[in-house]
Amino acid sequence: MRQLTYDGVPIPGLNDLVRTAIRLHPASGEPRPDESHLGGPLLWPSDEPWPECPVTWPPDPDASDDGWASGHPLDGAVPVMAGVAQFFRDDFPELPFPEGTDVLQILFCPDEHDSPYHRGPAVRLVWRDSGEVGDIAEPPPVPESAVLPAPCLFEPCSIDELPRVGDFPAETKAALGLPEDSAEDPEGWPELGQYSKIGGWTAWRDSGRAGLDCRDCGSRLVQTIALATEEHDVDCGCEVPEDEPAGWTLGARGMLNIFTCPADSAHPFKVRID
Ligand SMILES: [Zn+2]
Ligand SMILES: [Zn+2]
Ligand SMILES: [Zn+2]
Repeated sequence: MRQLTYDGVPIPGLNDLVRTAIRLHPASGEPRPDESHLGGPLLWPSDEPWPECPVTWPPDPDASDDGWASGHPLDGAVPVMAGVAQFFRDDFPELPFPEGTDVLQILFCPDEHDSPYHRGPAVRLVWRDSGEVGDIAEPPPVPESAVLPAPCLFEPCSIDELPRVGDFPAETKAALGLPEDSAEDPEGWPELGQYSKIGGWTAWRDSGRAGLDCRDCGSRLVQTIALATEEHDVDCGCEVPEDEPAGWTLGARGMLNIFTCPADSAHPFKVRID
């Protein structure tokens, strides 16, 4: 790659900030349980119960009354989680599959939640060995109000990304003559667009970078999966025939970002919606 410049001046270290993301390019389709997809049926064993939503603290009486649940009543019915996406290692070897697993399944609670840490759907990741799945379960029934994507297949490409300036290391900010606490991208800085992807940088908008350390080992979590409301046409070389193939809204029409531990992807992950 060419030496990156800022204001026409090559900046040492800037090239090291480039991350190659796998842009997913979801497109309407009819995925099978043995395919990678968004919104299709999961390769889920028929003898394994669908997981229940883990958000069961009592509802907060002060929470806003706009239809968001802060939690399911501890003594009430807890909804089962529904499949949202599935990624096979053969298609996406870039994902950090724990040893012995070859498929990542993402599930959402059909209700949206409003907690101090997470506004939006409760998320679960399941790393599974597809070879152990015999009979496949029927997808669970979900309420019509559920925030779930329409069925899509992927047409992935790779795209090089630069971080938002707030993610620059201190020495790079210094080389650019930017104040240490600068978070605003300077004029002319390449925009980090909205699109579903694996890896790459976080397109921060509303939420902060705080609290993204692993609860188990303290490692800084890394951006692993982004699911987008809109699939923007950016300079990746692909045509984007549909800008909202999934037909869902995440947060304020943004992206749901999943951060995993670089030391062990089975450690607790975190979610931010931007
Ligand atoms: Zn829930
Ligand atoms: Zn960890
Ligand atoms: Zn592309």
